[in-house]
Amino acid sequence: MPLDQNHANTGVDDRTDVQVFHSACPHDCPSTCALEVERLDPQTIGRVRGASANTYTSGVICAKVARYAERVHHPDRLTKPLRRVGAKGVGREAFEEISWDEALDTVADRLKQAAAEHGPETVWPFYYAGTMGLVQRDGINRLRYAMGYSRQHSTFCSTLSDAGWFAGTGSKTGVDAREMADSDLIVIWGCNPVSTQVNVMTHATRARKNRGATIVVVDPYVTETAKQADIHLMPNPGTDGALACAVMHVLFRDGHADRNYLAKYTAGHAEIEQHLKTRTPEWAEEITGIPVAEIEAFAALYGKTQRSYLRLGFGFTRSRNGAVQMFSASCLPAVTGAWQYPGGGALYSQAGIYGIDQTIIKGEDVMDTSTRLLDQSRIGPILTGDPRDLGDGPPVTALFIQNTNPMNVAPDLGKVREGFARDDLFVCVHEQFLTETAEMADIVLPATTFLEHDDMYVAGGHTHLQVTRAVIEPVGEARSNHWVLCELAKRLGAEHPGFAMSEWELMDDALARSGYGDAQSIWEGHWEDRAQSFEEAHFLNGFGHADGKFHFMPDWSAIGGNYAGMPELPDHFTIIDDRNDDHPFRLVTAPSRNYLNTSFTETKTSQVREGRPEAQIHPEVCTDLGLEEGDLVRIGSPQGSVVVHVRPTEGVRRGTVIVESVWPNRAFVEGIGINLLVSAEAGMPNGGAVFHDTAVWLRKA
Ligand code: SF4
Repeated sequence: MPLDQNHANTGVDDRTDVQVFHSACPHDCPSTCALEVERLDPQTIGRVRGASANTYTSGVICAKVARYAERVHHPDRLTKPLRRVGAKGVGREAFEEISWDEALDTVADRLKQAAAEHGPETVWPFYYAGTMGLVQRDGINRLRYAMGYSRQHSTFCSTLSDAGWFAGTGSKTGVDAREMADSDLIVIWGCNPVSTQVNVMTHATRARKNRGATIVVVDPYVTETAKQADIHLMPNPGTDGALACAVMHVLFRDGHADRNYLAKYTAGHAEIEQHLKTRTPEWAEEITGIPVAEIEAFAALYGKTQRSYLRLGFGFTRSRNGAVQMFSASCLPAVTGAWQYPGGGALYSQAGIYGIDQTIIKGEDVMDTSTRLLDQSRIGPILTGDPRDLGDGPPVTALFIQNTNPMNVAPDLGKVREGFARDDLFVCVHEQFLTETAEMADIVLPATTFLEHDDMYVAGGHTHLQVTRAVIEPVGEARSNHWVLCELAKRLGAEHPGFAMSEWELMDDALARSGYGDAQSIWEGHWEDRAQSFEEAHFLNGFGHADGKFHFMPDWSAIGGNYAGMPELPDHFTIIDDRNDDHPFRLVTAPSRNYLNTSFTETKTSQVREGRPEAQIHPEVCTDLGLEEGDLVRIGSPQGSVVVHVRPTEGVRRGTVIVESVWPNRAFVEGIGINLLVSAEAGMPNGGAVFHDTAVWLRKA
């Protein structure tokens, strides 16, 4: 729809006389904030604010997005299609501008040529969460399925956490975050919402102010969120399952288990009670590093507080044992029966409430499940020909990439870099900026931001579906993902009705299939709140499994094929890359506050606020290693080593090192980033990147 028709859901700010448009944050963050965007003219935005009428966003957004004008109007935005005429990886000077037709023709020819030589599975369309819009993010799959290209197992983020949550509850839903207002105890476990999901803090601190709720944070270092907590439990990375078990040991031991609830709503409660007898706080102290007294105190508080709310994040699941960690933590409210009370229970994600049928958007009606499935977290091994991934299939000789930057964000960066450097690999990247992945491409296509295209969004952190329209015209010659896919489909002969539909028609189709109203109505109302009833959200009508019970003994085989040896009950699953004599520290690559994955690494304000990559190391360890503030330290794993500056801090355990991320490679002293150290090994039982599961050594550089 032309922008001049884009009126119905806008208003004018009386104070400034500026037109304000509704939108939604597209970034990879569970908050999916409802936004109000000032449009200064058809090409220019002004300030961005959180929508105060949205009861989750509540007028609050993070600083990154509040200053979005800096990003959307950045002088480094890609505005023209580019062809690489110089070496890979050197930057803008290696490219020349070309027309859209020339660029698209080249891409189509190269994909055809690759498929003719090796078969269609040699082409790997690759994407992730650069935008979370359902049309612009997921449409790439329609081209994939229509052409028989290799499929993608999307494992960068939520595979492990999904597996662990689903194991117990059987449903990717939970208690509405707004219900924190009714909570007396809020446990923020494995996430740092001050930096990564600010709205959690809005609701948690309201509960503290209004009813004196206690806020507990479980995190392996003193994050900005931990600084605001009443209690901070600091486990060794990868040991949250042990903490959860010890807490449940105390709950059973001290009479805090709700036996009526257990009998009615859970399966395996006799087995878990027996099993937990040996999972004492003393046992857990050895593993987690958390003193017995702290475990006992937290368990007593949790056990005595009916209205206890767990906000479970992703961080503690990015580990080989991540699914078991999430599962173990998710057992707590099933033991006390906290699910029964207002403000009680847990939330991991609400993604399961929406039920959006994306058949046409994704082209699932033409998907051939016999086509090979490649694990995106193993892009390094895949591009370097690892037979564990490729088997008898062809090598990947063509990549078409939207919405992700694997040269920074993928594990095992050394292999990723080696793979992208191959002369026989054709790469097309459709991006907003010349990322380090785009620098390795043969053809680069300029992409719109969420303010320049139409889309719709569901959220993990809340319950609103949002439909948005472009607020401004595309910057330069930037084009939406959908437009590019349709143009490529024409040239490739890809047949699917979705390629003849507009973004808006795709939304209408998906919404109609899913029992919603049309996109226009939702857009005019800004959002549709799909909150479940109290009974549904609290699983009082039954959990998601066929028997309606919470499962203390999960069927891991139903979740993924790599389940052999997984614990039958919640536990400390010891498959992590644990400390050893050669690698006496554990590395956590937690998200930084001013970057979001690698988005915002291009904005000056974020760069200035972040400074430089730094290793947070305990001062006594620094003394032992002869390191002082600002010195360079080399951090090594079996995959290689990186050099960063040292920040001595009391806020980590002696055996833990924190390097907040994701910085561009070039921000590091030796030009290679922290994910070099991270293994591409897949978590159990269904894959998942293990970003926070790395044993490392430290040496003065
Ligand atoms: S808090 Fe998350 S969803 Fe909200 S504006 Fe910031 S990045 Fe976007």
